[in-house]
Amino acid sequence: MSAVRGWCPSAWRPMAAGDGLLLRVRPPLSRLTCAQALLVAELAAANGNGAIDLTRRAALQLRGFDEASWGEAVKRLVAAGLVDPDPAIEAVTLTVAPDWHADDDTHRIARALEMRRVELPRLPGKFGIAIDAGERSVLGDTPADLRVERGVHGGLILRADGRATGARLVRGREVDAVVSLARWFIASGGAAVGRMARHAAVLPDGAVGEVGPLVGQSQGEQVSPRHGRLTGAELASLAEAAEALRVTPWRSLLPERAGGAAMFSARPSNFLSCKGAPVAVHSPAVTSIHRRAADPATSVEACVGAPACPQASVATRALADLLASASLAGPIHVSGCAKGCARSAPAALTIVGRAGRYDLVRDGRADSPPALLDLTAAALLAELGAS
Ligand code: SF4
Repeated sequence: MSAVRGWCPSAWRPMAAGDGLLLRVRPPLSRLTCAQALLVAELAAANGNGAIDLTRRAALQLRGFDEASWGEAVKRLVAAGLVDPDPAIEAVTLTVAPDWHADDDTHRIARALEMRRVELPRLPGKFGIAIDAGERSVLGDTPADLRVERGVHGGLILRADGRATGARLVRGREVDAVVSLARWFIASGGAAVGRMARHAAVLPDGAVGEVGPLVGQSQGEQVSPRHGRLTGAELASLAEAAEALRVTPWRSLLPERAGGAAMFSARPSNFLSCKGAPVAVHSPAVTSIHRRAADPATSVEACVGAPACPQASVATRALADLLASASLAGPIHVSGCAKGCARSAPAALTIVGRAGRYDLVRDGRADSPPALLDLTAAALLAELGAS
């Protein structure tokens, strides 16, 4: 265990946060069966502090553990198939486009890669692989270093992050190509910079291509807790009503229809019908959950901030709620520090905590130069016309 920050915690490497140990669970194929979801809900409530955060890499983050409760939780997560017994294999961050269907390209490749993770070299802590091989690629805004995507030519490509185009893949050889490029990254000195987008080395011949990704949006109907946070009781309520839950990198859950593959498409109803029984999204047990307003222009994202994160000197989510109610043009990102955990893409407005005050970045990221410095919350709201 370590208290070092700046790397991605996992189940085996919990991070010491302001509210205790934080452990991260990445469900295989981004899918929680009903029983697995109930276990996570139970562990969060009984062993942790009850809070479950959904992350931008399709993981569930459980908070408030101590040494003993963490050990007990990991043991049960391994037994349930949610955590690999080998910490080195568990450390590989694999993000799967959540609206896969059984035996489609995303499902086929993700399963093959999960079984061959042992062939990957030891990769930097934040290095990730995205399997995004549906009819369109939907994970473009999700952090990843190697991307298996649908190309504009209709076939699959492997694209190194930071490059606009990727190389065509041969069906059945996709995992070979991923393993080969990951090995090249390490052999060419990539570990020193940590991320593919920052690695300036010329790609090897087989990884150079001219095909761009065919970009789209997930069509699944998602349940989005406010700020990506839900309680164990809320997760249990959703799990009991669904065949399974897919965990998305948009800090939401995608309930799976009975029978497995088919996902919800957009419906006029305010209900999700799972296991044949309609469940109100706004039922009393899930009061903080609402259907996702899939409009990036109005989105407000905020990290956990102070006091839960020791890196933060300011509260973030209360301010984000105030900004959300002010109907400002977004996207808006409120970050407890310049690390920007909640969003890596630029936002129209980014508010960054520093030394107990707020800096304001326009059309940038949390680490971009601010337009205004050292604002109190009241001065910031006045500046934005939100007070
Ligand atoms: S961005 Fe937020 S959650 Fe991430 S380290 Fe900074 S304060 Fe903590």
